[in-house]
Amino acid sequence: MDSGGHDPLVVELPSTTTCRGGVMRAGEHPRIHLQHNHNWRLEGSLGILTYSLHPIPVPRPAKGVKTAPVRCGACETELDVRVYSAQLTRITRSLLLLVGVGALVATVLVAVLLMGSDEPRNGSEPPESTLSYLPVGFGIVALFTVGTVGIVGSYFYDGVRLPRRSGHALRRPRRRSRS
Ligand SMILES: [Zn+2]
Repeated sequence: MDSGGHDPLVVELPSTTTCRGGVMRAGEHPRIHLQHNHNWRLEGSLGILTYSLHPIPVPRPAKGVKTAPVRCGACETELDVRVYSAQLTRITRSLLLLVGVGALVATVLVAVLLMGSDEPRNGSEPPESTLSYLPVGFGIVALFTVGTVGIVGSYFYDGVRLPRRSGHALRRPRRRSRS
């Protein structure tokens, strides 16, 4: 019987391999970069910001938060950056997402309720209740803003905080997929 002279291909995975699935992964190092703003100018109606990005080479703590000095590659300023553990980063991202989605759902619900209660009248009277809709309108805008900020924030949050008034910002380096 010719069973073939080939041994079956065996791939051994190192025993330390773990599969951490999910969108909420937080790397061992922050992926977000330190942003140094060089200048801002107006070209026509377009504001153009020139900045440079510098990595934050601080390993995440196993637990909690730690503060570590990070030197900006552009101006050499040393900033005390706070870096949160992967777990805390994931929790904060989840919370932001939860709040964001909740606020957006609430926005839609309030809008639907309003539309339902506001049956159009055929009379030619000017609407007298416009003023009372104003706070509700502000409420909807606020809810929508919270929703957007929450969802966008959950994507951009990377468990890093800069000291106040550091003159720098945080930014995700752009991934070049297509232009
Ligand atoms: Zn700088």
